[in-house]
Amino acid sequence: MRCPFCKASETKVIDSRLANEGDSVRRRRECLTCAERFTTFESAELVMPRIVKSDGSRVPFDDQKLLQGMSKALEKRPVSMETIEQALNQIKYNLRATGDREVLSQRLGEWVMEELKKLDQVAYVRFASVYRSFQDIDEFRQEIDRLEAPTADS
Ligand SMILES: [Zn+2]
Repeated sequence: MRCPFCKASETKVIDSRLANEGDSVRRRRECLTCAERFTTFESAELVMPRIVKSDGSRVPFDDQKLLQGMSKALEKRPVSMETIEQALNQIKYNLRATGDREVLSQRLGEWVMEELKKLDQVAYVRFASVYRSFQDIDEFRQEIDRLEAPTADS
């Protein structure tokens, strides 16, 4: 993001929030060269941060994968798909509102736990007990898959 005053390329974000009902991100930036401040509006779709996994690798945020993980935790619980999707939207909102390019998977996991806690205590405990020992949402999902696979007990 170039400074509109001196054209320097290094600017820092000093404030970031969602605008236009979440469709765009409004950022206050400060030029590191001339210290002028300016505001930018960026499409929220374009600023979804990447997820930094516990091994340091970066992956794109995958909302379908997260939805699957949450649905697993909420399996056989009295929570509608619509409610789960609302929780997912809240998590996506949190991600974009950070204004960061990268977010630790651990932080993402904390947000998921926060939402599950509001929805259903059992799902929260399921997720937390597994997730806390993994600290990585992909590992968590794999573990859930593994646990669920051999026991088709319904
Ligand atoms: Zn400047």
